[in-house]
Amino acid sequence: MPAAHPVNEVLARIRAAELRHGRPAHAVQLLAVSKMQPAEAVRAAAAAGQRAFGENYVQEALPKLAALDGLDLSWHFIGRLQANKTREIATRFSFVHALDRLRIAERLSAQRPAALGPLDCCIEVNVSGEATKGGVTPAGLPALAAAVSRLPGLRLRGLMCLPAPSPSFEAQRAGFRRLRELLDSLGEPGLDTLSMGTSADFEAAIAEGATMVRIGVAVFGPRPARRRVEAGPEC
Ligand SMILES: *Cc1c(COP(=O)(O)O)cnc(C)c1O
Repeated sequence: MPAAHPVNEVLARIRAAELRHGRPAHAVQLLAVSKMQPAEAVRAAAAAGQRAFGENYVQEALPKLAALDGLDLSWHFIGRLQANKTREIATRFSFVHALDRLRIAERLSAQRPAALGPLDCCIEVNVSGEATKGGVTPAGLPALAAAVSRLPGLRLRGLMCLPAPSPSFEAQRAGFRRLRELLDSLGEPGLDTLSMGTSADFEAAIAEGATMVRIGVAVFGPRPARRRVEAGPEC
């Protein structure tokens, strides 16, 4: 039997939200966001049955991935993408969530080792129009999606967003609804992923069609503070 762990409470909440909002059972996958958490915390969640983990910072993630190498986990890169880190991402991760520039997509495609098969990816859309956030504008999305779909080393799976926090369930739903409508409006074949919802708002995301929720603090507890030298934009 899997060990008791908060990840199982989060899964129960996900299943309850699927039921409540008319989603098929197991339509929503949990991505456990382990940024700033030690390898031992990931190991404990893995012992409780969790397989997919999300990381934001390449430098922090690589030693963690190496320490957990034997566990057969799937690693998703959900952070901001920098051109000088694409090679590590293309070789060590199985899914990239926050593509928002063609130049980065082209690098990832070219650097993806053929033996691993195409790298799954989502395009991040800035649905709340915040200047400080990453993501392509809704207007820029169709052209970027068409271009990414043509890259041989990538497999475009869908869209991702991180809307501005809101305390109201209805306001939370509005941002997620926008992302779902954008996915529906794209003509590209094979798009099956809506990566949306965090600890604060995943139930609203599930109500609007999320297929993957990215949850950190509800699974692992509060994140240890980042060291000063690494400080950068939270994303
Ligand atoms: C940190 C992070 C999350 C998880 O947020 P929590 O509040 O810890 O659930 C989800 N998505 C992205 C892009 C993040 O950076």
